[in-house]
Amino acid sequence: MRVNTLKRVAVAFALALPGAAIASVVAAPAAYADGCYTWNRNLYQGRSGDDVRQLQIRVAGWAGSRDIVENDGRYGPKTAAAVKRFQQAYGLRADGIAGPQTYAKLYQLQDNDCTPAHFSYNELDNGCGGSGYSGGPLSAAQTKQNALRTMWKLEALRKSLGDKPLNVTSGFRSRACNNQVGGASDSQHLYGHAADVTSRTSSLCTVARDARNHGFSGIYGPGYPDHDDHVHVDSRRENNSDSSSNTTNWSAPDCGIGAGND
Ligand SMILES: [Zn+2]
Repeated sequence: MRVNTLKRVAVAFALALPGAAIASVVAAPAAYADGCYTWNRNLYQGRSGDDVRQLQIRVAGWAGSRDIVENDGRYGPKTAAAVKRFQQAYGLRADGIAGPQTYAKLYQLQDNDCTPAHFSYNELDNGCGGSGYSGGPLSAAQTKQNALRTMWKLEALRKSLGDKPLNVTSGFRSRACNNQVGGASDSQHLYGHAADVTSRTSSLCTVARDARNHGFSGIYGPGYPDHDDHVHVDSRRENNSDSSSNTTNWSAPDCGIGAGND
């Protein structure tokens, strides 16, 4: 009885408040509501779920040397290590556990459309002026998901290179666009998995070398044919839709990055 009475009082109280205040009363248990995504529990090794998968998208760029973070929704050692590197990079307590401080940084970094602060869907859809992510082998929605992952890796690379602008000169390409620019027939650009980048503050070799630590499994740069004016980075190892095997492949001979897997 008493509980019911209190409940009625609370409802009456809420109804008496102006709109904004009601919203805050109703939403009281949630500490934060982000425009893109809000995590509601701490995550650490052993946990699984869509919230882990969302986290993995955002820390995929902190995979470490020649490694990747699987987007499988399972918080294993690689996810923990990536979270730890993310925390270190942003000056947080580095414990490999995703909690309030980690989420606060992610909320700060992500825009309402879930892209990281320094990259946008428009910028990644600029292979030939933009096509809304259509005209490739995958649906536009799948392609955008891949592009989102690419952007979070670029954000990590950018942070690692001193938080200075990285320019994307070619991102997603429709088949027509890829033909027009003479791209490889099964190019990762077709899938939203690739970006060609340049920098005004870091040499292309610095970009190419550093990219090896940020979840990219395909890297081509100076010394590789047609790659002397940009660095190509991609996620071919995670691409199960293309016709090549899921292996790491990089080459930038002028940077000491060999044709093998050096
Ligand atoms: Zn490229």
